[in-house]
Amino acid sequence: MAFAENTSSAPDSPEARRYNRIHRWLGLADFVVGSAFLVVLLVTGWTGWLRDLALRRGFQNYTLAVFLYLFFLLLISKVLGFGLDYYGFRLERKFQLSTQKLRSWLWDEAKGFLLGLVLGGIVVELLYFMIRQSPQHWWVITWALFMGLFILLAQLAPVVLFPIFYKFEPLENEDLRRRLVLLSEHAGTRVRGVYRWKLSEKSKKANAALTGLGNTRRIILADTLLDNYAPEEIEAVLAHELGHHVHRHILKSIFVQAGITLLGFWVANFVLHYAVDRHVFEELSDFANLPLLALTATALSLLLMPALNAYSRFNERQADRYAFESITSVEPFISSMNKLAQQNLAERTPSKWIEVLFHSHPAISKRVAAAEAWRRAQGQA
Ligand SMILES: [Zn+2]
Repeated sequence: MAFAENTSSAPDSPEARRYNRIHRWLGLADFVVGSAFLVVLLVTGWTGWLRDLALRRGFQNYTLAVFLYLFFLLLISKVLGFGLDYYGFRLERKFQLSTQKLRSWLWDEAKGFLLGLVLGGIVVELLYFMIRQSPQHWWVITWALFMGLFILLAQLAPVVLFPIFYKFEPLENEDLRRRLVLLSEHAGTRVRGVYRWKLSEKSKKANAALTGLGNTRRIILADTLLDNYAPEEIEAVLAHELGHHVHRHILKSIFVQAGITLLGFWVANFVLHYAVDRHVFEELSDFANLPLLALTATALSLLLMPALNAYSRFNERQADRYAFESITSVEPFISSMNKLAQQNLAERTPSKWIEVLFHSHPAISKRVAAAEAWRRAQGQA
């Protein structure tokens, strides 16, 4: 089996740089449009008009009106951001990263919108119910309820949410299953399943992930990876995902999320009381303040994004190290990294600030360099 030459020092192709640059601008534009919409709603007072409309259409029923208000908000956001979404779809096709047809993409958009409405509906109903029940302590109680919901969703995601968009089936490849069993035994753990993720119906990119909680815990491997990579390379990817499992990264991330969400609710409570004290809104339970809550959450996530990305990169390095220890040679790891970069048009060497601010994974060049350093330390050829 010949593996790709070490290309960790090779510069990124102009194509990869261009794709990633446009991709980042697109993300920024999306963020600006979404935030500007919320600001405009608040500054112009249109949010009050939308609330009144929701109350009229909802027969003055508070619960129904909250849902209708959310529906209006999501619908207008979707319409405003649709041009950018469509451009994103075209971008993937332009760079030959996507195989998805327009019809299928539109269907995904519709499903995504409905899913957002259902999950968002549950969240805002819970939120305003608790604000009405307990104006003083709503933020702690809602936080606890949200965390319960979050854990439930993390568990249900691989069996309920992901299948809305992609097909999955248990991995049938005997050789790979045997390799996974050996890796798991070495780790002294047991992963309940490995699934073939039919990503090729929509994308040419390759991917793999550890998902689920408890009895839904599983590794998913894209068919775009399974069908194009050598068994040793797939084993290296499996070992990395197993590293996430062994180091309990999903559980740890939930704890981190819990801390951040608690901080978020505390800030939200402060902001809402501040707005009510200044008569921007007459009461806490006036759901016309939802854009203010959404903006608070957006600002907080933006501020915390670099720290969360740094935490994620730390976890990724840990999973990589676990992979180095588990496989007999790091060569297939290095070649799989290079293949992934090429296939996904990833930047092997993004600029330092781009990596620090936006990347959840270390640069491919660094991951390859870490593997090479490991090989030298182990005295591998
Ligand atoms: Zn990972």
